[in-house]
Amino acid sequence: MHDIEIKSVTKTYIGTKEAAVKELSLVVEKGSIVTLLGPSGCGKSTTLRLIAGFERADSGSISLAGKTVSDSNTWIPPEKRGIGMVFQDYALFPHLNVFDNVGFGYKEKDRKSRVMEVLELVNLKGYEQRYPYELSGGQQQRVALARALTRRPVVVLLDEPFSNLDADLRVSMRIEVKRIIKEAGATAIFVSHDQKDALAISDQIVVMKDGIVQQIGTPREIYQYP
Ligand code: ADP
Ligand code: ADP
Repeated sequence: MHDIEIKSVTKTYIGTKEAAVKELSLVVEKGSIVTLLGPSGCGKSTTLRLIAGFERADSGSISLAGKTVSDSNTWIPPEKRGIGMVFQDYALFPHLNVFDNVGFGYKEKDRKSRVMEVLELVNLKGYEQRYPYELSGGQQQRVALARALTRRPVVVLLDEPFSNLDADLRVSMRIEVKRIIKEAGATAIFVSHDQKDALAISDQIVVMKDGIVQQIGTPREIYQYP
């Protein structure tokens, strides 16, 4: 079963000549981790924003968990797509503690137990009362990931999540983030320009160039690795 299905999507930003993404098609299997890899400007973030619903495609269609969220006559807004997002700078609320960051906008009856459950998943039990500025970079990233998972999203989108971590932490967080996403049972799309990120976390790597998909394969297929 496919959790994400993109069919021939094109997006040209207003005021630009070249399309940022050109007739892009991609299917992502349920539960798998896919990395969009390629140099700056190749269309990775645009692809992520189209899936999230922060941008609308000029043509083509996007389905999530078997439901069309975007085509010429369908538009489901971002908050109704069942996605969780982790941004490059984590985008934590500085005036809210860890508990409230993770539970932000989650109003279900099980709020307390759900927040504690995801904090346990990311190894941050005991940090509920801390504020973002009292946390290390790796801990902030785990809070951001926990927040993205609170609503049990079908799909998690991560935009360059490792770029603000120093080299050592980056190596350990790749493994940790992969474990967390697999345990949560989510389907994930990462954006990265770092081959090592892609090798360490991906089930599939999508190599992009100038708005098109150049190559798709497992890390082994793409890099004859390990
Ligand atoms: P990234 O690290 O994702 O490549 P960029 O520095 O390219 O980020 O872009 C940062 C922000 O600026 C993004 O939100 C993107 O939409 C916007 N942006 C990038 N290129 C342009 C452009 N040519 N015109 C207007 N906005 C742009
Ligand atoms: P990447 O994430 O791979 O760095 P982007 O998707 O950010 O690439 O950008 C793809 C192309 O679209 C680039 O040429 C970029 O300058 C352009 N672009 C991105 N965002 C905007 C924007 N908001 N307005 C105009 N052009 C943009």
